[in-house]
Order: sequence, then C-alpha cells, then structure tokens
Amino acid sequence: MRDFGPHSGVLSIDLGALSQNYNIFKKRVGSHVEVAGVVKANAYGVGLQPVVETLVQEQCPQFFVATLDEAIAFRSFNQNTPVAVLGGLFIGGEKEYLKHNILPVLNTSDDIDRWNALAVERGKQLPSIIHYDTGMNRLGLSADEATQFCQRLNDYQGIDTQIIMSHFACADDKNHLMTPEQATRFSEFAKYFPNAKKSLANSSGLFRDDAYHHDMVRPGYALYGGNPTPETQNPMNNVVSLDTRILQIRHTKKGETIGYSATHDFDKNSITATVALGYADGFIRAGSSKATLYYKGQPCPVFGRVSMDLITIGIEHLNPLPQVGDAIEVLGENQSVDDLADACGTIGYEILTSLTERYKRVFI
Ligand SMILES: *Cc1c(COP(=O)(O)O)cnc(C)c1O
Repeated sequence: MRDFGPHSGVLSIDLGALSQNYNIFKKRVGSHVEVAGVVKANAYGVGLQPVVETLVQEQCPQFFVATLDEAIAFRSFNQNTPVAVLGGLFIGGEKEYLKHNILPVLNTSDDIDRWNALAVERGKQLPSIIHYDTGMNRLGLSADEATQFCQRLNDYQGIDTQIIMSHFACADDKNHLMTPEQATRFSEFAKYFPNAKKSLANSSGLFRDDAYHHDMVRPGYALYGGNPTPETQNPMNNVVSLDTRILQIRHTKKGETIGYSATHDFDKNSITATVALGYADGFIRAGSSKATLYYKGQPCPVFGRVSMDLITIGIEHLNPLPQVGDAIEVLGENQSVDDLADACGTIGYEILTSLTERYKRVFI
C-alpha cells in the first residue's frame, strides 16, 4: 500500500525529464537559437520555482509569464534571469516593471506610449519586447499600429526594442495554411528591427519548420511533457505523474445507480472503487462517464459523474481486486496528459493547468 501521508493524492514532477525536454529543444534548434522557457500559470500548473531553477541550470536565457504578479513572484526567488510579461504593460503597474527589472511585452500603441513616456521621465532607454499580431487577433500590435510604429520609430527614442515577437494560432495542426502565412507577415515586420532578436515559435511551431526558429523559440507545453506534434508520437519525456488513493470499495447491485444525477446504472451486480479525486482537485467534470484511470496498469472506467472530491470507477474486472488505500494512476506511465485530455474532450494544457494545490507535490 502506498504511503500518501495525510494527502489524497501525490503529484510527482520529474525535473530530470524537464531538463531532458529542454535539451531536446536546444538540440532541435541548434546553438545559434535561444530556447526561452514559458512558465505562465505557475509553470502550467507544475510549480514555478522548481521549474525555473531547473531550466536556469540548463542555461535558459529568458522566461515568459502571463501577468505582472507572476513576474513579481518569479523575482522573489530569481533576481537576474530576464523575465517578460506576455499580458503587456499593465496600466498602473508601469513602475513595478522598472522596480523588479521585468520586461513588458508591448502589445498596443498605448503600451508603447506609456513605456516611452516613462523612459523619457527617467532619461534612459528602457528594454522592451514588441508583439506584432500576425493573425491571432488577441494580443499584439495590429497591422495598422505596426505600420505607424515603424514609421515613427524616431519618436520612440525611449524604447530599446530587444525582442520582436508574434504567436502562432494553429501550429499544433501540421498542415494548417495559417502558420506559413503568419510566418511571412512576421518576417516582413521583423525587417524594420535589424538589431532585435526575433521570436515566433511555441512548442508546436518549432517542430513545423526550421525557418520559424529565428533567434529565439518560446516553448511551454512540451517542456512539461505535452505532445507538440499531435499527428505523431510524442517526442517529449513525461514529466507529470498523479496517483490518488482508493477511499472505499462497494458491491453495487443490478438496478442501482451511482453518483449525482444517477447517470450510470448497473445492468448487473458490480464492484466499484470510490477514489479521492474530483473537480476541486482539477479533474475536470467533462471526464464524467468518459475518462479512464489505471490500477497497476489495468484500465478502470469512470462510472457516472465526477463530484467535487470524489470519482467512482469500475473495478469488477480486476484480479486481484484492489484494496482501500491502494493507489490509482490518473496520469503517468499508462495515461499521458494528452490521453486524459482526449478522453475528456479538451486539450492537455487545460488538464495540466487545472492541477490544484490539493495534491502533495513531489519533485524528483
Ligand atoms: C503560452 C505561450 C507560448 C507557449 O506556447 P506553448 O504552446 O505552450 O508552447 C508562447 N508564446 C506565447 C505568446 C504564449 O502565450
């Protein structure tokens, strides 16, 4: 019987596999291209500090987070490695970027104006990243804003453009036509900034075409073991394993039901295990009656609804039967984040970033 201590489950993070994944990227892009680490959302739910410290050991030269408070959290344990905020220059927070030495990704003309004004006030150039939106229609300068900015570069003497970036919308789809179109738009914009580093590719993008590597790639998901090339076998190593415990074993009778809304009924006598895992742990409710968990490598279907703290699985077919307290695998050798996401009708990114603080996190 596995020792879970007081915890419902144990989330193991393999930092060695994370390092290996980082080095897969380094090898793939070659020594002339930098591999930045995207560590937004608590490093995709895995744990910010251990991930950053591992990647810093691998000489990761640049990190990206989503929000200003994530960057400030980053600075609480790392004062030196460059970190940038993808969400832009948060209004009212401008001085925090300076104070903590955080790079803003300038997404709008207004971001550029405010950062430039601060530079003028301080009497020095301020480092910045310019984001050009090549088709995502989400964050970044529009084509018109970009044209204006390029025409008026002399008015923005305070802006020291260190990196030019854009982001792919469809790079996970191998043959999507939008990817090369975005790359072309990016290269046209990038010409105006001969001295800046160029950065375009996320995890999937960097596997699509070496021409997308430019000076810096920005993988996130695949660092944590997600498959960047869904059309083929996962080239990455698994990083995240999650085991949880059986709380009770029940013998259910023909005609009975199980769980909220009684969505699963038994057409014969059966045996189920109630497992300490629910949507409050980040096991999304969309997995109701669809997902599979594993006992010693054998699949056990989820019966009925996922509750807040509990899930019920069928174990009647197992021999020998598991015992109360035994471990059930949610993620690991038998089930990757992508497998579980497929079963739940979502993407592995959501599975990872849903992992809550309820589990004991073990870094190995
Ligand atoms: C999240 C994000 C990334 C990383 O993308 P992955 O698909 O996780 O590799 C890179 N760039 C930007 C702008 C992002 O928002």
